[in-house]
Amino acid sequence: MPLYRDEAVVLRTHKLGEADRIITLLTRQHGRVRAVAKGVRRTTSRWGSRLEPFTHVDLQLAEGRNLDVVTQAESLDPFASRLGGDYDRYTAGTVMLETAERLVTEEKQPAVQQFLLLVGGLRAMAAGEHPPGQVLDSYLLRSLAVAGYAPSFEHCARCGDAGPHRWFSPSAGGVLCADCRVPGSAGPAPGTIAVLGALLAGDWPVVHAADPRHLREASGLVAAYLAWHLERGLRSLEYVER
Ligand SMILES: [Zn+2]
Repeated sequence: MPLYRDEAVVLRTHKLGEADRIITLLTRQHGRVRAVAKGVRRTTSRWGSRLEPFTHVDLQLAEGRNLDVVTQAESLDPFASRLGGDYDRYTAGTVMLETAERLVTEEKQPAVQQFLLLVGGLRAMAAGEHPPGQVLDSYLLRSLAVAGYAPSFEHCARCGDAGPHRWFSPSAGGVLCADCRVPGSAGPAPGTIAVLGALLAGDWPVVHAADPRHLREASGLVAAYLAWHLERGLRSLEYVER
């Protein structure tokens, strides 16, 4: 079986047979990969803890006919151990893993930007420099943008008219001017739209200075935008306290 090396974040695992697991990975060079990790559920396994969700690993894999097989694993960043002790960070991180899996739909299609965003987001979440909900919202907007669903928070999403605009519609792709407003558009506070733009741009000073009411309203709109672009909602998002 041909071997290859790659760097990956473990998104999800499930049991296979007596002692094995199937590991869903987001790799740097090969996009989403599902691989078998043999013997990892035995207490004597050398790798068990390196192949848990949230772990950033350097891997060697053997190409299989259906699933690849993990043949070596070295831990790079054990994000799991730093997120596991904090409920808010852990639940927000879980939403990030689920979102990455849902947005990278094709197996073995390179998705380098999604990989880098996820590693950067988990690192920020583990470092605790920003509140978990803000790291999550910023990650969600940016990963949707990389997936081709970039929201517009300045120009009208329909006619392109320069903002600021008063209305927001997930289905229209962002803010709307008064002429383009569609039924059911939200009318968030102007400060909320500014926060959304700052979260997308990663403009942390603006996010940190924002009114908590605007941050809360922005979180609701990010969740609505995400739900519109994913076929099914995210189960894990229900556990994030807003
Ligand atoms: Zn317009």
